[in-house]
Amino acid sequence: MSTDTKYVYFFGDGQGDGDTTMKELLGGKGANLAEMSKIGLPVPAGFTITTEVCNYYYANGHQYPPELRGQVDAALAQAEQVMGKKFGCTEDPLLLSCRSGARESMPGMMDTVLNIGLNDETVAALAKASGNEAFAWDAYRRFAQMYGGVVLDMKPKTKNDEDPFEKLLHAKKEAAGVKLDNELTADQLKELVAEFKAAIKEQTGVDFPTDPRDQMWGAIGAVFGSWMNDRAIVYRRDYGIPHDWGTATNVQAMVFGNLGDGCATGVGLTRDCSMGNPGFCGDYLLNAQGEDVVAGIRVPERIEERLETDMPEAYGQLDQIGKTLEQHYKDVQDIEFTVEKNKVWMLQTRNAKRTGFAAVRIAVDLVNEGLIDSKTAMQARRIPADDLNQLLQPIFTEESKSAAVDRLLAKGINAGPGAACGKIVFHAEDAEKRRAADPNEPMILVRRETSPEDLRGMRVAEGILTAFGGASSHAALVSRQMGKACIVGCGALKIDYEAGTLSVGDRVLNDGDFISIDGFTGEVFEGKVETSPSEVISVLINKTMKPEDSETYQRFAQLMSWADEYRTMNIRTNADQPDQAAQAVAFGAEGIGLCRTEHMFFDHLDEIREMICATDPDRRKAAVAKLLPFQRSDFEGLFREMNGRPVTVRLLDPPLHEFLSERHLEENPELAAKLASQLSITQDEVVARVKGLHEENPMLGHRGCRIGIVFPEITAMQARAIIEAACNVKAEGIDVDPEIMIPLVGFLTEFRDQEKTVREAATQVLEEKGMELEYMVGTMIEIPRAALRADTIAEGAEFFSFGTNDLTQTALGMSRDDYGGFIGHYRETDIIPADPFQTIDIDGVGRLMEIGVQGGRATRPDLKIGICGEHGGDPASVMFCHRTGLNYVSCSPYRIPIARLAAAQAAVESG
Ligand code: PEP
Ligand code: MG
Repeated sequence: MSTDTKYVYFFGDGQGDGDTTMKELLGGKGANLAEMSKIGLPVPAGFTITTEVCNYYYANGHQYPPELRGQVDAALAQAEQVMGKKFGCTEDPLLLSCRSGARESMPGMMDTVLNIGLNDETVAALAKASGNEAFAWDAYRRFAQMYGGVVLDMKPKTKNDEDPFEKLLHAKKEAAGVKLDNELTADQLKELVAEFKAAIKEQTGVDFPTDPRDQMWGAIGAVFGSWMNDRAIVYRRDYGIPHDWGTATNVQAMVFGNLGDGCATGVGLTRDCSMGNPGFCGDYLLNAQGEDVVAGIRVPERIEERLETDMPEAYGQLDQIGKTLEQHYKDVQDIEFTVEKNKVWMLQTRNAKRTGFAAVRIAVDLVNEGLIDSKTAMQARRIPADDLNQLLQPIFTEESKSAAVDRLLAKGINAGPGAACGKIVFHAEDAEKRRAADPNEPMILVRRETSPEDLRGMRVAEGILTAFGGASSHAALVSRQMGKACIVGCGALKIDYEAGTLSVGDRVLNDGDFISIDGFTGEVFEGKVETSPSEVISVLINKTMKPEDSETYQRFAQLMSWADEYRTMNIRTNADQPDQAAQAVAFGAEGIGLCRTEHMFFDHLDEIREMICATDPDRRKAAVAKLLPFQRSDFEGLFREMNGRPVTVRLLDPPLHEFLSERHLEENPELAAKLASQLSITQDEVVARVKGLHEENPMLGHRGCRIGIVFPEITAMQARAIIEAACNVKAEGIDVDPEIMIPLVGFLTEFRDQEKTVREAATQVLEEKGMELEYMVGTMIEIPRAALRADTIAEGAEFFSFGTNDLTQTALGMSRDDYGGFIGHYRETDIIPADPFQTIDIDGVGRLMEIGVQGGRATRPDLKIGICGEHGGDPASVMFCHRTGLNYVSCSPYRIPIARLAAAQAAVESG
């Protein structure tokens, strides 16, 4: 780094060295503090130390660049001048806060220290200047507590232990006979500070620092250090935030919401981010310091309910600030503020995190209000495509809920929509263990208050319930983001971690008992309450609700219509049954991208087993012929349902052992006899044939086109069934568009072999029927050789569809059935950034796809190319498919709305 690198950016008093575009360098908080200052909003002066310093710190054994100190001194002097106070001064001293701020917000994951600059002299000066001794000592008490915990690492020793500072505070309040922190007298607080310092010395061996500058540098180090704490690492892994982004550190003049009357602190949203309702909302506490609201220690008041009455002057300022911010940022803002003596100070603004419900509503409303256009509304950062899932989430059935009235335990704050039912678990650690032992066990994580340590538990739980905290507390923010049902501030709950009980009055529930929570209303029920699908599902799929009766559905439909306007890729579905196809069409499918014909055989096991066991071709032909009518009628159903849309039918693919293996014979003692009689052979011969089918590695064995090549009568039957079905449906006056797909091709010769069998069968059918029909024969690209030789394969294949399940398996050499054994460890240790079977490994598998697309289109410029692996419903993969020039993605029916939106977002992003 050169010596003139700027590491420190000043903001305050209408100025700002940075602006909102500089999030990479200044983090979201720092960039927006500078921006707010520049647009004239009241921001306490301060400075941002860049993310580059964070990276330097980690690359250089926790050292800072040599020029940092000088730049910090200069910026601090500027802040002192603006605020008219001096840091460390023994007359009206300036106090500082030190907060993290990464490029993407990571709520509650990193550290903060407030009230920096207090020692035995400055506290006296603060008492004198504020005229409030108890306030000054309370500030010192808070500082000692935060500094002790965050910088000096004084934490509870075990998971059941209380925070050591909280314990002392609690004891002090009990001895004083008071309930609230702010009821303690200056003398009592003074004693408490001494007790805190003594406890720190005893537990950590460190003397509490008295020099304000040492304190400031200690806090800066702790904030940079918190970038690599466990919960921040887990959070980044979950949200795909790279570890090398680093955090910025913001050092800012303190303003006080706890100076008595006309003071408050709060967090707010310029509109509701749970359901998206318009209107300023949020939490505030009168006469309190910022962290009290977020930490969920006291249950706060609602801004929209009381602030106008409590503090009319501040409410007016805040309302105006909210409007200015929305106009400026063109999006709903999540703010932190402090009211000091009736003046509002802004401590933060950022684009608010929101539920899927809120995301859709806010995007649609902002378009209607003329703040943004529909193209902007599509942005992935406004509506992460996966969040649409929440609109497709279960809610409690009315019947089950009314039956549960007398099991209503309590009511809390409805912080995250959705209904959830599961077994009580009190500790994140236990939740993780239970999830590992039983992936299907539903759990509700029940906690006293909100803590970022709970992230791992929240992730595996169906829902989250806490006794304390408000709608903006950590648990609420994180669970909303995860799309989990969440209730906070449910004060009637008495939680005893040691006994493992949750009680309300005389009702006692134990760890492992069922509980149900309604995140829409805040109601908590004892036992199970049944859930039912979302309104969108009720309108689209179950048809139990009319579109005009559901505003949620109407907004969803509006969004989908915009998505369809912008996207250039088609969206198809993977479906094998007519009812699945019908659902998919309701969700907007424009074709079937993959019909796995083997799924159609699950109801005809006798016939398929006979086919597998037959050794002479005539016998096999006879067995295969028995399957023909079933296949034909299944295909007819699909063609009818798809009504002229393309239907890609893939020829038989899976390893045959899935239908018949020694295991099947062992599990079903009559099977051998049955097959022996069907085939007129002995039972021993049946057993011998089944043994002969055994493969050590069936995924790489006799499957895909290799079956049809060795047993052409199977391919011929399937081709006949497809073409006969298409002709029959066409004869009914319904358009058909069949595409026949050959699986697991690696060589052009394999394709040619199967194509010949298909075309011969098709020609024969068309001659018999005296009909003409257009159809295509194409291939899956699902092994690396096919991608590498795509130019040659396209000489025969009329279309390609990437089978990224097998392509991932074969390109990475990771068994799609067995990778579960190590993938967790791979993710935890950042060996790979995502599960490659969920999100395309762009650098490897993606590269093969690019080669496949280029090769295929070099031979056939208008080659139609799609994807039908599971990745077709994953937003990041859908975006990659768009960039790679695919014509369509195909996914399961419920993922279709997500794929439609992701495809539109990809189109909008690529301009
Ligand atoms: C694939 O491999 O991606 C694919 C769609 O086929 P299957 O999952 O049936 O192997
Ligand atoms: Mg496959």
